[in-house]
Parts: sequence; structure tokens; C-alpha cells
Amino acid sequence: PEGETLLELDGVFKEYDAETAVEDVSLTVKQGELLTLLGPSGCGKTTTLRLIAGLERPTRGTVTIGAETVAGGSAFVTPEARDVGIVFQDFALFPHLTVKENVAFGLTDADEEERGARVEELLDLVNLPEHGEKTPDQLSGGQKQRVALARSLAPEPEVLLLDEPFSNLDVRLRVEMREEVRRILKEAGVTAVSVTHDQEEALSISDRVAVMNEGRVEQIGDPAAVFEQPESKFVASFLGRASFLEGRLSEGKVETGIGRFDAATLEGYDTTYDNAPVDVLVRPDDVRATPATGEEADGYVLRRQYVGPSFIYRVELDSGETVHCLHNHVENFETDQRVAVDLVADHPLAWY
Ligand code: ADP
Ligand code: MG
Repeated sequence: PEGETLLELDGVFKEYDAETAVEDVSLTVKQGELLTLLGPSGCGKTTTLRLIAGLERPTRGTVTIGAETVAGGSAFVTPEARDVGIVFQDFALFPHLTVKENVAFGLTDADEEERGARVEELLDLVNLPEHGEKTPDQLSGGQKQRVALARSLAPEPEVLLLDEPFSNLDVRLRVEMREEVRRILKEAGVTAVSVTHDQEEALSISDRVAVMNEGRVEQIGDPAAVFEQPESKFVASFLGRASFLEGRLSEGKVETGIGRFDAATLEGYDTTYDNAPVDVLVRPDDVRATPATGEEADGYVLRRQYVGPSFIYRVELDSGETVHCLHNHVENFETDQRVAVDLVADHPLAWY
């Protein structure tokens, strides 16, 4: 039932001769939930999916699906015997089979009538009721992805795994299909684990996000929590544009070169930290630049980047530190222009 843990990894390691691909990963996924593993290339995302699917055996730790330990100790359930579906990056449709035949492929148990009914149901779910007789080469990228999803969902797997599901789509379609894939998974009610290196994608489609770095899960939580309350500098810089300023704690304040804020907002702060150096996270909308007037200057514009509705200025401060400032078109600065920079956020994050 909804809300109960369906999938659990407990202290899972995967070691190869020379390196550890997955290191002490523990996580749970609830029935009907969509969890995304987010992290840079090589951080162990695909290996984690393969461990869930049974395509790899953990070096240590256990994997549990439902009530069954599928890997751990002497237990090992083969991929075929696990109730797990996979959507491949390249969709892996059978080119010589029609859409209907592709979707029906995994439905070996049911009789023909049941199979036909199930295929119709799935084509409705993925919004392709008119395309059943086509072959994959007659479909657009988005339609192929819909067929791949329908085929993986047809046997009603307990867990659906999606490895970089949008990487074969162009940028515009990618954004459109994010919403569609989430809708389809939610309507199907399947428990899903997806993988991406794209933070915007992870934040927009997931119920929860697990941020991975060098084989480990650094933080797991709902999208807003991992973005707004990153627990490490890695998570902060992976989930958005981030600069770090050197700060110093003093009398309940954190002082930086461009402003100060209340230290009480820092987690775990107490006065014993006074005079300690801290790294202060500064996001582009945490700072404002203004044209320098006389002595009021903190640095100069190194680079400006046009990002559609706004500009992002990279400012080198006279301290040698750099920050990114987000500005609309009204305030326009030139490269090399001297500017004053102020910290406008009142609750920045910092690490001791
Ligand atoms: P990601 O999907 O996050 O890009 P992977 O899980 O594919 O990362 O890989 C994690 C690390 O494990 C990488 O450094 C990769 O080189 C290594 N790795 C993955 N599979 C193998 C393998 N079969 N043999 C040796 N090393 C591997
Ligand atoms: Mg991968």
C-alpha cells in the first residue's frame, strides 16, 4: 500500500578491482514513489540501478524488494525472477515489431484477449491509442519513449528503473516529456527509481532526490529540501549556481567581504564558534551589484552571460573571490566595469 517501503538498499557496496563504484549506499523507496539518483558522471548511479535490477551483485549489503531479500548474504535473486522493469536510455524498441507488438512483448502469461485489452489500456495511458500498428521508425522521439514506457509497464513490475530516460531527446522535448513521464508513472502507480545528471530534471520530476557523489549518497530528501537546505558544499554547488565566500563568525554575526548576516540562522551555531572561519554559500540572487561610485567598489565584472530573461554577471571581488549576480535587463553592466556588491540574502548557508 501507498506510503510503505517497497525497495530498500542497506549498506550496499559494489567494488571492482581498482575502485569502489558504490560505497555504503542506504536508501528506501516507498510504494508508488519516484526517487531520482542525481549526480555527476561516474558517481555510481547506473551501478546502483544495476544492483537493484540484479544485473550486479553487491560486494556487501542487502537489497530488499517488498518482503524479499533479493541480494545480501547468500541470497541472490536473478534479474528475471525480480519484479523489476527497466526503461533503457536508447528505448531499445524492436524495430521489426509494431507498437502493439512491442508493448505486448512482456505479456507472456495472459491469453490473447487479456493481452489485447492490456495493450489498449497502456496505449491509452501513454497517449498513443492511434499508433498501435506503426513500427518504431514511423515514430518521433517522444512517441518512442512513450512506447518504451508502455512496454516496461505492461507486465506491472513492482519497481521501474529509468536510466537517463531523457538523454536521447532534444532539449525542448525533454522538458515536455518530463511532465508526461511523471504523469504516466503516477497514473500507473508504479514505484520508480530514475537516474540523471541534470539537476533541473531531478528537481522537477521527483518525489525525492538522492544526491550522489563518488559512490555515496550525500543527501536524500524532497526536491525543495535538497535545493534549499543542502547539507554539504558538494550538494549546494551541484544543485544550482553557487559561489563560496570566506566568512568569519564574530559576536553573533557572519562577516563577509560584501556584507554580514545573523549567525543564528546557521545550523548548529553557538558562541564557541566565534572567530571560526566559515564558507558562505552565495547564490546569484543572494547578491546585488550596483555601479561603483567613488570609493564604493568591491570588484569588477569579469564576464556577463545572457540567459534569456536576465544576465548573470561573474564579478571578481578585490579580495580575489568571485560571485555570480543575477540581474534583469534594467540594470546593465559592461565587462570590466567597477561595481559595488552587496549581500541581500538574510539567511545564507555556511559551513564551518
Ligand atoms: P554513473 O552512472 O553515475 O555515471 P557508473 O555507475 O556507471 O556511474 O560508474 C561508477 C564508477 O564505477 C565509474 O568510475 C566506473 O568507471 C566504475 N565502473 C562501473 N562499472 C564497472 C565495471 N564493470 N568494471 C569496473 N569499473 C566499473
Ligand atoms: Mg550512468
